[in-house]
Amino acid sequence: QAPIITLDGPGGVGKGTISALLAEKLGWHFLDSGALYRLTALAAINHGVSLKDEQAVALIAEHLDVQFVQNDTVTHIVLENEKVTEAIRTEEIGTSASIVAAYGRVRDALLKRQRAFAVMPGLVADGRDMGTVVFPDAPLKIFMNASAQERAKRRVKQLQQKGLLPDYDTVLADITARDERDQSRSAAPLKPADDAILIDTTELSIEQVLDAVLEAAQQ
Ligand code: C5P
Repeated sequence: QAPIITLDGPGGVGKGTISALLAEKLGWHFLDSGALYRLTALAAINHGVSLKDEQAVALIAEHLDVQFVQNDTVTHIVLENEKVTEAIRTEEIGTSASIVAAYGRVRDALLKRQRAFAVMPGLVADGRDMGTVVFPDAPLKIFMNASAQERAKRRVKQLQQKGLLPDYDTVLADITARDERDQSRSAAPLKPADDAILIDTTELSIEQVLDAVLEAAQQ
């Protein structure tokens, strides 16, 4: 059985960055589970399916035609033969993802696909319910948090680095709305697993968070 480290937490907390660095350091596989919800939302939109139509969106999730193509250090995401690596990263798709993620049947459909990533030599799994639902037996579970204001600041910086001109208040409102949806849904609401290690990253740099996780991994 492959060893697994789960990293859960709200949007914009830096899980993606930390998980990718950690996977690289350990030489393990990396599961970006949020990408699967983003892909489901994008596929639904591409097929003209209303995001409000739970059954139709669930069918999309059950038949998702996606490939993660590893190319040296970058992973390209291909949806129905189209490269969507960047297209799924927009705030609009993030918000759409959090709508479809509230559907139990969508979550069930994506469960097997996520568990298939758990192969040797090991897996770093990034998401909202990695420690609570998808990999409840993982020996190391981390739950990262940071204030909504700090997460909005980080997201603004990230978007600026991509050459965009985000508005802080809009980004903060998006983050708060997404938190609310992720925490209040009945299917796998966002919360730490009982045995998760909590890390508040508000005042920490990427290096400090990575050190804290590696330290926990060595114990
Ligand atoms: O992490 P990311 O922003 O890519 O996730 C997009 C959305 O997908 C989240 O807001 C959340 O609603 C949903 N999600 C989820 N469970 C996961 C990963 C993401 O519900 N394991």
